Parts: sequence; structure tokens; C-alpha cells
Amino acid sequence: MKGIVTKSTGSWYHLRTEDGSTYQARIRGKFRIANIKHTNPIAVGDEVDFEIDKDDVAVITKIHDRKNYIIRKSVNLSKKTHIIASNIDVAFLVVTMANPKTSFGFIDRFLITAEAYHIPVVILFNKIDAYTEDELEDLALYKHIYNTIGYESLDISAETGLNLDLVKERMKDNISLVSGHSGVGKSTLINALHPDLNLKTHQVSDFNSKGQHTTTFAQMFEWPFGGFIIDTPGIKEFGLVHLEKSELQNYFPEIFELRSECKFDNCIHVNEPKCAVQDAVESMQIAPSRYENYVTFLEEEIYNQ
Ligand code: GDP
Ligand code: ZN
Repeated sequence: MKGIVTKSTGSWYHLRTEDGSTYQARIRGKFRIANIKHTNPIAVGDEVDFEIDKDDVAVITKIHDRKNYIIRKSVNLSKKTHIIASNIDVAFLVVTMANPKTSFGFIDRFLITAEAYHIPVVILFNKIDAYTEDELEDLALYKHIYNTIGYESLDISAETGLNLDLVKERMKDNISLVSGHSGVGKSTLINALHPDLNLKTHQVSDFNSKGQHTTTFAQMFEWPFGGFIIDTPGIKEFGLVHLEKSELQNYFPEIFELRSECKFDNCIHVNEPKCAVQDAVESMQIAPSRYENYVTFLEEEIYNQ
């Protein structure tokens, strides 16, 4: 039988089959050995094969290849990584122009991380009902910058329901992740889409009262209209990716597109002469904020939110 992992406790896995049946399954030792660098070999979102053994226990026999996955580092000293979730179809980044104002830096960090993880992003500009003229001008600029380089976006109001039908359409039958600064309206949005859902994204403690490491696990919930939302304690660590300097440009679509026009093959577009990227910044074909963040991120080693 085939199922999708909707919850992992580290020893038991909740599975859901295509017809909607649910099982609690175990794994066999060989998965632990094959995935030695990870503390938990199976992640929420994994597609697995399983069988019912002679003791009537569901046993996972195979993990299908993951199309993507997000990881976090374990908090203890083992330096192992922990796969939080896999097979994510779309990450929704909720962004607001006021209360709070989401910075370009925050957005760009999220976008390069998503690019590195191969996860498509939809930017949800929330609180559209509440903006002043000036904030609407900011909004137009943000949309121009991100739509020009190919990111999808929607103007929404989680409060009034504006365009939530379009959000549903984009979420339907997909595995989604919803991210964004505190206060941008993630809970309000999720409540509007699924009033019974009470996500725990904020209730994470990596150490219990005795100071021992307690692993926190992700789970995902089904939308009433089809598809899943991942509720993950690691959501804040979506930014955990290590990139080489030369690699960063791969995750800025507008820089990536121009790189072959630079004079030097190994151009990183900072001080090199005859650089197509620096020319494009000069002519405003590349947004200054995007280039500034590219340069800022180049100087960092680990891209953490
Ligand atoms: P979270 O921290 O991202 O989960 O944000 P919340 O959902 O808790 O929302 C933070 C505040 O913003 C709350 O007071 C919400 O009522 C308000 N809020 C959320 N969405 C909207 C919206 O579309 N319009 C307006 N005006 N307020 C909103
Ligand atoms: Zn260059």
C-alpha cells in the first residue's frame, strides 16, 4: 500500500492513503542505517510504501524519492540534521506593508532559501484592506520588483476574505507551507481557510525543563478543500542553508539570467569589469534592493532568517 506521512513522532508515523484511510506505522531498522546523518529518517510529506505485518502492525517498507525537503540542525551536540518536511509544492510568504512592515531583506532571504530548496513561492500581500495611499505605493513597488523577476503574488485580506478563493485554488491538492513575520496575519489566514485548525507554530521548545533535548516534530493537516498544510516547529529555520559564494547567484533569477553575459566566467558581480549584472543595476533593470541584498548575503556564510 502507498501512503503519505502526515505526522512523525520519531518512532511512530501517521500515514494517510489516497482513499483517506489513516494508519500508524513503524519503520524497519534499515532506514535508520541508510539515513545515519539524520536523526529521523522519515519526514512529514514523504510518500511511502507500507505493509501490514503478521502482528497487524503497519510497517513502512520504502520511501519514495523526495522532490525537495527542508532541514534543521539538531539542537544537541550531535550536529545531525533533521528533515522537517518533504515534497512541499508551494511556500506562501505572507508579507505586509505596515504593522509590521516586511523588509526586502526578509523577503530576499526567504526567496533564496526557497530557491535553494527548490520550493516555488507565492507572495501573499496581506492586509490590503488597511493600507494608506503611501503604503499602497510601497505595495506597487514590491509587486513590481517581485513580479518582474517571476514570483507569483496575490493581494489578499485575511480579515475581509479578499482573494482567499485564489489562495485556496493555489493550495488545493498541494502540500503548502505558510511563513512570514510574526503579526503579518498567518493565523488569521489559516483560520479563515480552516476554522477548526489550531496550528502550533509558536509553541516550540527545544529543551525541556530538565535541559534535555526534546525533539519537536512536524505534522500536516488536511484542508477541507483538499491538500495539506505543514505545521512545523522548524518553520522559523526555513533559512537554514549553507551556500558557497559562487552559488548564491543561482538563487537570484535576474542575476542568474545575466551571468553568461559577464566577461569573466567566474564573475560574482561585485568588482569585476564588464559585468552584465553591475550594468543592469546601473540601468535599474535590476532593483537596487535586490542587488544590495545579494551583496549583503555574499558576505555571510550561513543564510539564517
Ligand atoms: P501571525 O502572527 O502572522 O499569525 O498574525 P495574526 O494572524 O495573529 O495577525 C496579527 C494581527 O493582524 C491581528 O490583530 C489580526 O487581526 C490582524 N490581521 C490579520 N490579517 C489582517 C488583514 O487582512 N487586515 C487587517 N486589517 N488586519 C489583519
Ligand atoms: Zn558579473
